[in-house]
Amino acid sequence: MSAGSVTGKFIRTGVPITVSWKHGVITNVEPADEPAATEDIWLAPPLVDLQINGYAGVDFQQDDLTTEQLHAAVRALRRDGCTRCLYTLVTDRWPAMLARLKHVRSLVSADRELRSAIVGWHIEGPFLSPEPGYCGAHDPAKMLDPTPAHVDQLREAAGDDPILLTLAPERAGAIEAIRRACELGMKVCLGHTNATADQIKRAVEAGATGFTHLGNACPQTLDRHDNILWRALDTPGLSVSLIPDTHHVSPSLFRLIHRVLKPFQIVHTTDAMAAAGLPSNLPRAVTLGEMKLEVGADGIVRQPGKTNFAGSSLSPIEGVLRAAKMTGKPWQETWLASSLRPAEFMGWTSEIKVGQPVELCVLKMNDDGQLMNLETIAANAPTASVQLDANK
Ligand SMILES: [Zn+2]
Repeated sequence: MSAGSVTGKFIRTGVPITVSWKHGVITNVEPADEPAATEDIWLAPPLVDLQINGYAGVDFQQDDLTTEQLHAAVRALRRDGCTRCLYTLVTDRWPAMLARLKHVRSLVSADRELRSAIVGWHIEGPFLSPEPGYCGAHDPAKMLDPTPAHVDQLREAAGDDPILLTLAPERAGAIEAIRRACELGMKVCLGHTNATADQIKRAVEAGATGFTHLGNACPQTLDRHDNILWRALDTPGLSVSLIPDTHHVSPSLFRLIHRVLKPFQIVHTTDAMAAAGLPSNLPRAVTLGEMKLEVGADGIVRQPGKTNFAGSSLSPIEGVLRAAKMTGKPWQETWLASSLRPAEFMGWTSEIKVGQPVELCVLKMNDDGQLMNLETIAANAPTASVQLDANK
């Protein structure tokens, strides 16, 4: 939408504001009267997701994806409140991952709508732990020890784009690779790891700042005295990402982590794959690279016959609502964990201010305080909206 204006309560303050824009750029943000009494309208910076493996039937791990397929994925993400994501590539043979990155990057570079939606890359593998449970759905046979040369190849393939690299710091050469990645401006998260407390500490000293989907990519049963959760939570300097679908992290653990860590240390991510963002009555047999997966009636994505999860079918807005349900906090607060916090973790801004391209979510609530409708406005794309089901 190139020009327009909208009035609603600003999500961070609850104070009504009017935001106006022209040619896709915000021209004015000013105090306003209350929105019409019949509607409770809120304005929010859109959701940002640092881990999207696919969406709306499009599997990001496939070769030869087209611009049209990427449009379908980013438009469905926008409809569900998310205007910016990191395109996530999971463990495969290293040359295949680099080729995939270069191919998608060439499509993104040539298309304005894709450029504003796919703003960087999350490389989750192949430098992960092959141990059962810790490897998750990643194929241990394709895993590698990282070297500075791998990191250089990644930077070359991605140009100057933002990169988030998730690796297991116990792999040989990992500390040196973390140092190199940080020198080249990448963010480094630990994940799919059974690193010792000392290895985690050394990874943080080398520049790692996050832990990817804490509570997942570990065995069902852990040593009660010493396990990867305690070690990560006990290491100062690490932010963590959490998947707020109620399955990946149990509601009690989810609440506990929110009590233990400061709000700025917690980033919510969907870890969505192709099954996410589809109507729930569609058959849900999907792929993640070479893996064939199925989505249960419970919405959980599994490898047939196995218990481990393989990404999620959660949409960004569902994540906000389920996090609110689990923590008992207002959705306005959990919204920030899926918008402001991931943006800040990557060093981006997520503000509604004059001079920024217009990117806004407009949320309508009913008299019972439940969210009914989400509309997402973005400078380089058509406005999208979705009805929300408060009971989901
Ligand atoms: Zn993972």
